[in-house]
Amino acid sequence: MQIPGHIDPVVTPRAAPTPRADGRRDLLGLDRAEMRAALIEAGVPEKQARMRAGQVWHWIYHRGVTDFAAMANIAKDTRALLEAHFIVGRPEVVTAQVSTDGTRKWLLRAVDGEEYEAVFIPDADRGTLCVSSQVGCTLNCRFCHTGTMKLVRNLTAAEIVGQIMLARDDLGEWPSAHDGRLLTNIEKMGKGEPLYNFDNVKQALGIIMDEEGIQLSRRRITLSTSGVVPMMARAGAEIGVNLAVSLHAVTKEIRDEIVPLNKKFGIDQVLQACADYPGANNARRITFEYVMLKDKNDSDADARELVRLIRQYKLPAKVNLIPFNPWPGAAYECSDWERIERFSDIIFKAGISAPIRTPRGRDIMAACGQLKSASQKISRAELDRVAAEKEAQFLAAPAA
Ligand code: SAH
Ligand code: SF4
Repeated sequence: MQIPGHIDPVVTPRAAPTPRADGRRDLLGLDRAEMRAALIEAGVPEKQARMRAGQVWHWIYHRGVTDFAAMANIAKDTRALLEAHFIVGRPEVVTAQVSTDGTRKWLLRAVDGEEYEAVFIPDADRGTLCVSSQVGCTLNCRFCHTGTMKLVRNLTAAEIVGQIMLARDDLGEWPSAHDGRLLTNIEKMGKGEPLYNFDNVKQALGIIMDEEGIQLSRRRITLSTSGVVPMMARAGAEIGVNLAVSLHAVTKEIRDEIVPLNKKFGIDQVLQACADYPGANNARRITFEYVMLKDKNDSDADARELVRLIRQYKLPAKVNLIPFNPWPGAAYECSDWERIERFSDIIFKAGISAPIRTPRGRDIMAACGQLKSASQKISRAELDRVAAEKEAQFLAAPAA
């Protein structure tokens, strides 16, 4: 069923965040200029504001400090002033679950009660945080659980940055150092379409990349879009991170069905936008996400057409084959393993990398496309029980 507007959504302008009951303002998510302005508004003398903002920035994003009292190089009366006007927030954690494979999922609650999720996927050589950019998603892809959520709003920059801060708190990653980091990569691949929340995503990623804070390199950040063509060029020019595109099908008929946005921005437009994406060269390949749906998009002919399209647009590309992650009520099944391997082989043989993504965190519904604020379906008590069980399993498992 198509809901009007779902394939023609508008890039939503930034809304003011819901005010806190105590009247204080969250400094998290402000850019440097906004932080400076906020300090001046609170009464910090204008002449000092830049320096103070720099100090506060360092405490927040380098040290992970949330308590103004701990900001040792700031004068006591200024600390009191800051305390009276501001907080350094963290999202409220509803549940924190750990999968048997080490994947972690946090269900988070915003000040207005809306819920969203972040997922951390540890690997041998990297640790990736999947960050959500919206509560739900308007785009309604047929294989995606998130797309079935009714509630939708953009997350604020603070809520996006907050997911990373929280993950770093839990992983014990303060102060920010380059050696031995657990959280090394970020993917805007959680819930929602990041390019429909462009301003907040841009601001949040700017903060994460800032050289005096978390300093995550743009090469370690990937933004995944379902193909919002008009915003792709802006993402390249203004954010400059790696691009992943959820292609999932090679014919208009099938892509229209499974990614309804295709009716607005077709495959050719999407691929042209990829070809135009700045910095697309062999060192920075574009990733095509391709979910493997049984008898839908997984034939040899589909694989060959995918290769042809990538060649036609001369794209430096890599294809990520994602085995479909099932969820209750889904209309599709995952392709058989041999089929996925065969599909991968065809692409590999054409000289294009096509790894099969191992599903992670399926047991806690943390895998791609399974996110949907679980509290809508299972009770809190049940979630707590499952979380405790998983945590126990995780702790009991021999260290890898
Ligand atoms: N909205 C953005 C980013 C979030 S989805 C996008 O669509 O690109 C992250 C990835 O998971 C996308 O490639 C998405 O198509 C894929 N995905 C969604 N549901 C899935 C499912 N049930 N199984 C496997 N992958 C899924
Ligand atoms: Fe939205 Fe991405 Fe899910 Fe499509 S796959 S409904 S764009 S989150």
